[in-house]
Amino acid sequence: MDLEEEEEEDYRSESRRKASTVFSVIASVLSGFLGNWACFKVSEMLNVPSQAFPAAGSQQRVAPAGQSRNKVVLKPGHSLLDWIRLTKSGQDLTGLRGRLIEVTEDELKKHNTKKDCWTCIRGMVYNLSAYMDFHPGGEEELMRAAGIDSTDLFDEVHRWVNYESMLKECLVGRMAVKPSPALQAHTEKTESTHLNGLSAPPSLRPEPLSAPLPAKDHRPRYDWFQTDGTVNIVVYTKRKIPSAGCAVVDLQDDNLRVEMLLGRMSYLLYWRLSSRVQDHVDVQTAHSVGKVQLCLRKSVKEKWTQLGQSLEHHDTFIQCKDRGLFYRECVLLSKTDVTHNTQLLRLQLPPGSRMQVPVGRHVYLKTSVQGTDVVKPYTAVDQMLIPPSQSSAEVGSDIHLMIKVYPDGVLTPHIANLPIGASLSVGGPEGSLTLRVLRDVTHLYMLAAGTGFTPMARLIRLALQEFTVIRKMKLMFFNRQERDILWQSQLDELCTKEERFEVQHVLSEPADSWTGRRGRIDACMLQNFLERPENSKCLVCVCGPAGFTESAVQLVRQLDFSEEELHVFQA
Ligand code: NAP
Repeated sequence: MDLEEEEEEDYRSESRRKASTVFSVIASVLSGFLGNWACFKVSEMLNVPSQAFPAAGSQQRVAPAGQSRNKVVLKPGHSLLDWIRLTKSGQDLTGLRGRLIEVTEDELKKHNTKKDCWTCIRGMVYNLSAYMDFHPGGEEELMRAAGIDSTDLFDEVHRWVNYESMLKECLVGRMAVKPSPALQAHTEKTESTHLNGLSAPPSLRPEPLSAPLPAKDHRPRYDWFQTDGTVNIVVYTKRKIPSAGCAVVDLQDDNLRVEMLLGRMSYLLYWRLSSRVQDHVDVQTAHSVGKVQLCLRKSVKEKWTQLGQSLEHHDTFIQCKDRGLFYRECVLLSKTDVTHNTQLLRLQLPPGSRMQVPVGRHVYLKTSVQGTDVVKPYTAVDQMLIPPSQSSAEVGSDIHLMIKVYPDGVLTPHIANLPIGASLSVGGPEGSLTLRVLRDVTHLYMLAAGTGFTPMARLIRLALQEFTVIRKMKLMFFNRQERDILWQSQLDELCTKEERFEVQHVLSEPADSWTGRRGRIDACMLQNFLERPENSKCLVCVCGPAGFTESAVQLVRQLDFSEEELHVFQA
């Protein structure tokens, strides 16, 4: 069994185990809800995001071939900023005049109309009626949550959205839960959510448990040892790991959180340490044997009798998508103009954090706008398309993000105005790309529009440097005007240097002087671009605005590329 099959096998056995545990526990408590849970089971497709949710016709969905999608255009006065203003206006958005109540399942079910729409997320019940016209995915999609526990629906698409903050004024109360013995036995680790002074009831879903060992134990494990001055933690991931490493380490005060990103799986270690250590954590990776070693320096040279006390979800091995987002405060080190409206931000992680964002994955920036947390995903890039050589001090301690500033946006103008030295909350990383999709690929095609180029930037570098089997990689890059093309000169330079790499620019609003391709993506453009020579294995990667992505996916499918030959980047 090689690395990828192991990862897949782990994923499957873990999914089977989780599914059986979840369903057996929930069945006794939430029999009425089982239909919904089963129907939104996560797709087993490997590289195309699940399409069970959002709803067909939703703005967030890549529709099946041949179907067009209704774009939801929000009415004037219904932007995110308008919503934030409404929530601060003092208006009663729940109809309960600030009272918080306990909601039974029967009660929840009754509130299932547009004008009276309640939903439950992680045990807390919200009245969504006022939000209906502000939802970027549209009313139809929001109504899928009406009168039910929509935690799974929400997690499928919006897991990162800070609903607690966004919907704070819509809080009706919490679900009245009749705890069953089975549930009690499995919920010793619950996340504590406090909203408007109300804490969430015990989670209706059991937290991931440590798995009973599968027949062949592929589960990572750890060990620790100490010297006079150091504490060393060794993690055996039991698989090959990327040379750039896979550990996300956060030492905050005495709490040490170590997350191993192993393809689509996540292994977490989390302790309150026995004694104080210095800020800096040294991380060494032996990638071919899958070993990661952390070295912490003791503040006082004394013998530790134990490493520390386990914190929530310590020693759990679950799918990345089921792991809660963790945030740390980063410092804005520099801002460099990439184009007239796009900046490259360099963020420095706090001294106790180490993280190398995996290729194609994104992080979340969170900031408070008028007292409401606003969160957006950004794909990490490198400092340059092909950096000459990064200084070792920078690897794992800095993150680069390419951010287009939208004048009407809520978050980006705020970020653009941040002074150097300001702090920004960074969560993640997350994302669906695993290197498995590149296995045996000989022809890599990338269709990118606007900032949809960002996941491609590191993919190009990785493919050129580590995937010698790739014979050809071609980028078709769609922009409005020439001045919008990100890293144009670097792309052109790479073309001249690297025979395997080719870029074609397409502009939708070109100047008269533009001699290249014009227009929007169409079948004719792709027919010639997506060659399929004999004995080739192709992969087409797509990223851009939702409408672009949808068109590109339909066109690629029409050219008989299979689901396995298509990867869609969607945050
Ligand atoms: P943009 O400048 O508005 O558009 C770039 C190009 O795409 C333009 O030529 C535009 O043509 C074309 N385009 C837009 N909508 C189209 C449609 N429906 N069909 C065909 N072509 C279309 O792009 P942007 O402002 O940089 O936005 C980039 C998007 O990528 C954002 O939505 C961002 O969220 C997304 N993104 C996603 C990820 C991820 O999921 N991992 C990462 C990065 C970026 P027209 O001039 O004719 O509109």
